[in-house]
Amino acid sequence: NRYVTIKAHIGGAPKDSDFELKSETVPLSLAPGSQDVIVKNLYVSIDPYQINRMKHCSSSQKFSYLAAALAPGEIVDAYGVGKVVVSGNPEFQKDDLVVGLITWAEYSVIKPGGMLRKLDTMGFPLSNHLGVLGFSGLTAYAGFFEVCKPKKGEKVFVSAASGSVGHVVGQYAKLFGCYVVGCAGSKEKVAVLKEKLGFDDAFNYKEESDLAATLKRYFPDGIDVYFDNVGAEMQEAAIDNMNIGGRVAVCGVISEYTDGARKAAPNMIDVIYRRITIRGFLAADFTNVYADYMSTTCDYLRTDKMQSLEDISDGVESIPSAFIGLFQGHNIGKKMVRIAEE
Ligand code: NDP
Repeated sequence: NRYVTIKAHIGGAPKDSDFELKSETVPLSLAPGSQDVIVKNLYVSIDPYQINRMKHCSSSQKFSYLAAALAPGEIVDAYGVGKVVVSGNPEFQKDDLVVGLITWAEYSVIKPGGMLRKLDTMGFPLSNHLGVLGFSGLTAYAGFFEVCKPKKGEKVFVSAASGSVGHVVGQYAKLFGCYVVGCAGSKEKVAVLKEKLGFDDAFNYKEESDLAATLKRYFPDGIDVYFDNVGAEMQEAAIDNMNIGGRVAVCGVISEYTDGARKAAPNMIDVIYRRITIRGFLAADFTNVYADYMSTTCDYLRTDKMQSLEDISDGVESIPSAFIGLFQGHNIGKKMVRIAEE
């Protein structure tokens, strides 16, 4: 079983030499009485938050994240889809398709109580269940509808808009009846947002020197909702352009993950006088909207109202470069690695 681990805690942006491909023997059979489930991994998710688990953190910080800190040499657990090879757990049978917390590896051994459930594909490709029908989709849905509390006709700004969460947020916002502008880090991404996903407008933030002025150009009447995936100066610029009663959903601050010195410092006097709500959230807290999210999203996909963008690399050995690429803007849509064919 080949698996990916970190050699040491990572400070700054991840690079090839931070990772190691190791191998171990996983017997494809269970000891008598074992309730483990051995899963052949098919797709594993590549997510920005993993970098925060890979940093050196104090023991008090360890408890402030939902996902525990990783130790060097430890196998990285991650969301993914796989197929049961052998099961001692009566809930699962050989050949069941499953989704949940597996590992950056070829096989995963899931202990009793592990986060795993049978996957009903509902006729959608397996890869969709990591992206638009997986954690990213729920994040987009809960963040947009529950945290941003949009009203039809409102002006919505999304950062990292061609990414896994961002491209789904923008489409929900359009389908709901908002005016939507996204930013992304390349011409190609901007073209995808405007031409393929139906954003009203989009821009390449790397070509702009004054972000507050740029947003003023795209939102002459101000921003009502900002879905923040990046933090730092983009958050400050968005808040600069926010209308009275505006809402900021802080989903992620990827530009701060790899640089401890970068921090958003929004103008708090604006926040007060314009009665702006800034709210961080975790998708995991919104299981109450899961059924609505699933039925709405499946319906949008089946009727071609929504597109799912996926960016797939092949083979367990490509996990480090796939992960590093997130912080360099290489991906368009949900980044994942196909470990094996079904
Ligand atoms: P993405 O698919 O959006 O991939 C990351 C993208 O971020 C890159 O492609 C790049 O796009 C952009 N990016 C990378 N570095 C920077 C930088 N320094 N400045 C600005 N943009 C940058 O990832 P996800 O959709 O999975 O995640 C998006 C955000 O949502 C992350 O912050 C993540 O941590 C967060 N998240 C939060 C969840 C929650 O429950 N709160 C759940 C899931 C994700 P570009 O070319 O546009 O720069």
